[in-house]
Amino acid sequence: MVPETPASMNPKISRHPHGIVAVDTEYLYPGHAAAHILQQNGRAAFVDVGTNYSVPYLLAALDELGIARAAVDYVFLTHVHLDHAGGAGVLLKALPNAVAVLHPRGAPHMIDPEKLIAGSKVVYGEERFERLYGELVPIPEARVKVVQDGDRCELAGRDLQLIHTPGHAMHHYAIVDRAHASIFPGDTFGISYRALDTAQGAFITPTTTPTQFDPEQLLASIDRMLSFAPESMYLMHYSRVRDVPRLAESLKSQIREFVAITGRHGPGEDRYEAIRADMLRLWLRLAREHGCAQSDGEIEHLLGNDLDLNTQGLIAWDERRRKSGS
Ligand SMILES: [Zn+2]
Repeated sequence: MVPETPASMNPKISRHPHGIVAVDTEYLYPGHAAAHILQQNGRAAFVDVGTNYSVPYLLAALDELGIARAAVDYVFLTHVHLDHAGGAGVLLKALPNAVAVLHPRGAPHMIDPEKLIAGSKVVYGEERFERLYGELVPIPEARVKVVQDGDRCELAGRDLQLIHTPGHAMHHYAIVDRAHASIFPGDTFGISYRALDTAQGAFITPTTTPTQFDPEQLLASIDRMLSFAPESMYLMHYSRVRDVPRLAESLKSQIREFVAITGRHGPGEDRYEAIRADMLRLWLRLAREHGCAQSDGEIEHLLGNDLDLNTQGLIAWDERRRKSGS
């Protein structure tokens, strides 16, 4: 069944240079998650797609941009976290010529989402999972293109290089659009909500979501992306940021601080509350230095979901590290 686009559907679209468009996936709340559409010589690609509930917005965006569904060649899924890839199975049913581009570690989970569903239910709980993601539709194996580190995809003459970027997740890659000094880093280059922009520019925070966060890998992946000297990063949360070297420094110092915070709160106490509180203190200090106008309560509310997921991810990492004795 091909999803219908309701006539009244009004996608929130932001147009960027070089045929890049951000579409709000309407995940959690407006301004939280953006899928991107790349247009090149009459062809198009998606970079991340949101959830099943995002698909009508994406199709409405294609309509608004005058892109035929048959003109979409690729659905790039930077990693298989469900806020990025959950809607891909449903979306592909509407895009007759598109292939889903996946990391070798991610592809099996989109072809057979059983484990992915079980893992996500552990993080979100059964009831919330249903509300956030609905029923995951598998992607037929014949429509999956697996990319190794450094592989290239061509979109109507536009050269896109895929580089593996572990750290946020093992099944993560980033898309390097070298001719336009742009990278689509998925979640590897953190989270930057436009609501926290100030005269100093964007405010950014790392994302250490369970269950595969690894600080050393994440630091190395950020440095690898920097080696391409990108002018723009197009994040899922939320779209374009510039001033990349400053943001990279901030991310790297926060990742090191997260490791220190986790080290201060070992097993045997209420470490969840303690780690979350320390992370909030760090973010409030950084937000003040950045000149954010919101109150402490408003900032905590805006970053609350990330505080929770990051804390879970740090604890999962620490437990893994302790088990392996490293
Ligand atoms: Zn993610």
